[in-house]
Order: sequence, then structure tokens, then C-alpha cells
Amino acid sequence: MVVLGTASQLPTRHRSHNSYALRWDDQLILFDPGEGTQRQCTLAGVAIARATAVCLTHFHGDHCLGLPGVIQRRSFDNRTTAAGIKPLPVFFPGDGIEFFENLRNASISHDVSAVVPQPIDGPGVIGRLGDLTLSAVALEHRCTTYGYRLDEPDGVSVVPERLVETGVSGPDVGILLKQGWIDGPKGRVLADDVTVARKGQSMAFVMDTVMCDGALELADGVDLLISESTYLHEHLDLAVEYSHMTARQAGELAAAAGARRLVLTHFSARYSDASVMGDEASRYHDDVVVAQDLVPVAVPRRR
Ligand SMILES: [Zn+2]
Ligand SMILES: [Zn+2]
Repeated sequence: MVVLGTASQLPTRHRSHNSYALRWDDQLILFDPGEGTQRQCTLAGVAIARATAVCLTHFHGDHCLGLPGVIQRRSFDNRTTAAGIKPLPVFFPGDGIEFFENLRNASISHDVSAVVPQPIDGPGVIGRLGDLTLSAVALEHRCTTYGYRLDEPDGVSVVPERLVETGVSGPDVGILLKQGWIDGPKGRVLADDVTVARKGQSMAFVMDTVMCDGALELADGVDLLISESTYLHEHLDLAVEYSHMTARQAGELAAAAGARRLVLTHFSARYSDASVMGDEASRYHDDVVVAQDLVPVAVPRRR
């Protein structure tokens, strides 16, 4: 996951507004493109032309003001490359369609972005992105907000030692896995003989919200949890007032949900050094990453 920005309401000298790009197999998914996303993509080496989907949690400016730039850049790229125009689904809370249309038509442009609006009208599975399943779950914020979750299907992994014993090699391995069997040099081999089950990986994006059941549902057992962490717990009163989470709550969320790696982001401008967020959350979870602008975060290795 390429972190493009980590600021909440106010960007700072070192933090651009919220924005994230997740590369996963053939997918490039932009989450909450805040102001400055186009420029941050350039700095991070993320090609907006290659984006396969955009997911907006809600229509506060720090989560969507970069969308006009993304859409117009997409139009520019579509006009200047011969690759052909691919549709770009944009997911967002359905009751905010007015804001989506405003952003889409924010200024003069010749729109060939091929954007496909995907308003969300309720929780559940909302789409398939390549092999991945995209789900949305309602969060509790000051306006309609959906968190997102991506799940890879379960698959199988080849056990090299078992494969060597069968004598099957090269392109025959692909045939074996595809059709489930092959007649090898030592007789018939079944795919089940040389593979073990591999659990699909998963990722959750929880932002903006108070601690709630929806956040727990999204984060349940995920490999990578990106969570808002606007305040330190000493400012819990502010977190409650503005419907946000503290670093401690993000740590508790990751622990309660059994998430493997927790990425903290969406920091209030009052904290010049976000490492204090990591210190606080690390008392509750043992794999905490404090997101930094333009620094990628890896999904943990498969178990
Ligand atoms: Zn926000
Ligand atoms: Zn918000």
C-alpha cells in the first residue's frame, strides 16, 4: 500500500491530505483521494491512468477533494495514450451523490475519464475487483460513512518437495493445477497430492469513525488494517466530539479483531510527530506501523 497522505482536516508541512493507493495483483485501488492526490501520485510513482477503482468513505473534504484532479488526470491520460479507455468505478455513499457530481464537474474539462459512479445504498458486497471481493460496512461518523474491506479468494500453494517427487515440471505444473490432475512420468498425479490450502489475504480501510461494531466487522481477522487515529487518548473528549478514534482505540480495535498489521493514519495537525501515536497503539497491538507520506507499507507475508 502506497501512503500518499496522512493528514486529517488540515495538511501540514510534512503531511498531505489523506490518500492511499493499494496495489494488489492487477488492481490499483485509490482510497479517499484528498487534496493533492495527483501530485502525491507523481512523487510516489503511482500512475492514475492504471487505477482500477476509487473508494470514498465519505464526503468530508480531506477524503475527496482530490477526486477532481484524479478524474481530470484520467481524462488527460485517456486522450494521450493509445491503450484504450478502461472504466473506472468510483464507490461512495449513495446519499452523497450530489457531492460526487459537484466534484466530477468541478471545473471546465473534456471528460473522457470513463468514470462509472457506484453509489452505495447499503452494507454488504458491493463489487468484484479482479479476483478480489469488495465489501462496505457502515461506520459511525458525523455523516454517512462506509469503511471498505477487500478479500482475496482462498487458493492453494504447491509444496515443492511433493512436486519434485512426482516428476511433473515446467508447463505441466500449470496444467496440473488447472485441470486438477495430469499423467506424469511416474503415473497420474492429482493437484491435491502436491498442494496445501492457502487462505486468501484481506485488507480493511476504517475511516472516519468512532469505535463501533462496523469497524470490528471490517477488521475481523484481516492481514492489513488501515485505521484512522486522529487523536491521542488524552484527547478522547475531542475524539468523541468530532466522531473520531484515538491511537489507543485503533490498537484496541486491531487486537479485538485479530488484525495482523495495524497502520495508523489521519493525524490531527496538533501532533507534529506522529510517532507518539505508534507508541500508544503499540501497548495494545504488536505490529503497528505509523503511516508516513510517500512511504509504502507491505501487507504481511502469507502465514
Ligand atoms: Zn477525515
Ligand atoms: Zn470525516
